This record gives sequence, C-alpha cells and structure tokens, in this order.
Amino acid sequence: MIVCDEPVSALDVSIQAQVINLLKQLQGELGLSYIFIAHDLSVVRHIADRVAVMYLGRIVEIGTEDEIYERATHPYTQALLSAVPVPDPEARDQRNMIRLVGDVPSPADPPSGCHFRTRCWKAQDICATEDPRTVPRAADPHPSACHFAELRPTTAA
Ligand code: SF4
Repeated sequence: MIVCDEPVSALDVSIQAQVINLLKQLQGELGLSYIFIAHDLSVVRHIADRVAVMYLGRIVEIGTEDEIYERATHPYTQALLSAVPVPDPEARDQRNMIRLVGDVPSPADPPSGCHFRTRCWKAQDICATEDPRTVPRAADPHPSACHFAELRPTTAA
C-alpha cells in the first residue's frame, strides 16, 4: 500500500493526467493499493474506488465513488461537489451551488456537537449537543455523519 499525499496538486493539468494514469497503470500491473489524499474532487473521482470526505480531520462521509459523487447525503460533501468547476456554461448556470459561510474552526477547539454546524445551512438545535456518528442513514446506506442526511439534486429544479 502506498500513501499519496497531494501527489499532483502542484503540477500542471496535463502533467497531472500523466501522473494519475501512471499510478493507475502501476496499480493494475503490481496490484497496489493507494491511500490518495487530495483536494481536487475531479482527480479523486478519476482514481478512487472508495472515497472518504473529511472535515476538521474527521471522516464525515464515506462510500464508493458512485455513492459519494452521485448520492452524497452530508451537507459538507454536497457543498464541495456543488463547487466543482463545470466547463459547460449551460450546465453551470443550471446547477445549484452551495456557498459555505464563515471560517473553518480550529481543529484544536472544534464546535460542540457536529463540528460542521457553524457553517451548515441545515443546522438545528440537536446539532450543537449531539455529535453525529458516521453511520448508515436512511437516505442512502453509505455512512454519513449528519442527523439530517438526505439526498440532494445536483442541479437547480
Ligand atoms: S448534523 Fe446538523 S450541523 Fe451537522 S451536517 Fe448535519 S445538519 Fe449540518
């Protein structure tokens, strides 16, 4: 197993593609497993079979590539996905982008309850007192750390 910590983030896009393709080729030839850490969701989708989304150092949602990219239930994941650049202007106009407000709290002194609650548009009283565990939710069976996990359309109605 190889840990790849932001292996392509500082590279030109064309070089990124070459490195990712090389990693995939080596994975197939040598039977490697990667823990691939990245902020670019497009790159993650290209290489990952399973995806864990982290906020303040904790996993808030985890699932297959399809579960995370097509059926995300955690508000933070949904906000991240809504901000992925879309090259098609028409599709870009139709999507329902979520803009997070506020600053990222210090991991050394996180908010009580759900650590995402100070930036979450869905937060309610329970979010300040009960820390949601990362468990399967009714909205979809993959684990999500949200009391109000639900599917969300990716484009505006
Ligand atoms: S538990 Fe509450 S604050 Fe946390 S993500 Fe869910 S709705 Fe938002």
